[in-house]
Amino acid sequence: MKILAVNAGSSSLKFQMYEMPEEKVLISGVFERIGGTDSFYTIKINGEKIEKKVTLKDHNDAVSCLIDELLENKIIDNLDEIKGVGHRLVHGGDIYNKSVVIDDEVIKNVESLIPLAPLHNPANLVGIKAFTKLVPNACQVAVFDTAFHQTMATDTYLYAVPYEWYTDYGVRKYGFHGTSHQYLSQRLESILGKKDIKVITCHLGNGGSISAVLNGKCVNTSMGFTPNAGLVMGSRCGDIDATIIPYIMKQTGKTIDEVVEDLNKKSGFLGITGISNDSRDVEQGINAGNPRCILAQKMYVNMITQYIASYYVFLGGCDAICFAGGIGENSINTRKEILDALKPLGIKIDLKANDVRGKETLITTKDSKIPCYVIPTDEEVMIARDTYSFIGD
Ligand code: AMP
Repeated sequence: MKILAVNAGSSSLKFQMYEMPEEKVLISGVFERIGGTDSFYTIKINGEKIEKKVTLKDHNDAVSCLIDELLENKIIDNLDEIKGVGHRLVHGGDIYNKSVVIDDEVIKNVESLIPLAPLHNPANLVGIKAFTKLVPNACQVAVFDTAFHQTMATDTYLYAVPYEWYTDYGVRKYGFHGTSHQYLSQRLESILGKKDIKVITCHLGNGGSISAVLNGKCVNTSMGFTPNAGLVMGSRCGDIDATIIPYIMKQTGKTIDEVVEDLNKKSGFLGITGISNDSRDVEQGINAGNPRCILAQKMYVNMITQYIASYYVFLGGCDAICFAGGIGENSINTRKEILDALKPLGIKIDLKANDVRGKETLITTKDSKIPCYVIPTDEEVMIARDTYSFIGD
């Protein structure tokens, strides 16, 4: 059975088509700069990567183009072969603690959550509408980035602000990257061969978050009301004192929107280095002796170890830690710095094993008190699995 996993952004559309239940990837790709004058798409099929320039005035055009490629490449003979389309949705608020089949009520609920995710939910909805229009017989499923974190306890997800901010306006910690953290914790269950485990999952990409997972359920996570909380990220600031915002507004005359933009797009690695949000550029800067790159990396690693150490206590111990995301999977040096800083927890890195990129690997020694792993994350397969679960054979 053919299932599509889809992630629609404001000007992009990522997709991966699976043969289920085998979980075989048939074709994957991304449409970029939708709505612009220079749209293009890249597809990967049979190990071959193809890039094409094309006019895409909206997401409907991108979905039409995707359907043409599926037919031309004989991935499908007709549209009815696509039995399900799973959509990544950034915000399910406290309405959804698991994936759901999309109907009018789901659309209404996701629309009602737009104030909580003003950039993401509208883009996700555009994707849903395009696929519902062009692949009307497929079961459309919503897979929420926030759902896995809904098991956090009230004393964990509340902020110590006036209680009415929560009851009247939904101010609380939601957490994001949930599909990735769930995948990672399930992989650790398989690797350790048991389900009643305490694990810390680190998703370190351009955005980054860490979760504490107890017996398969999330009990804490570093992102908060928005994805801008927690770790130092590519261009997001992570945890800061909220009072910095009015102070900077008064000092600079910037508007609230400008300051929020600074905190989301001009902070993190980019803010501290003044060079780039990309950890590879930061690494290059470090090698060239750039003091601000050295500083940014130190701040990055400090924040990660701070979260891991606090979640170790929060969980009352830890059976395994894993690293995923572009940096977690590929930056040998960053993992070394993190694990070295975690020596007080009895963690011992295996330098040879850690010399790895993008491959599931144990990177600590046999006598390390906590085994640590690199685990390439796979949010798309989780979306395909959830979608398939609603359809079956
Ligand atoms: P993601 O958001 O998961 O795609 O991750 C993006 C981040 O991963 C960027 O900061 C990249 O610099 C980083 N990254 C990707 N490949 C590598 C690599 N080979 N070495 C170090 N960092 C990498």
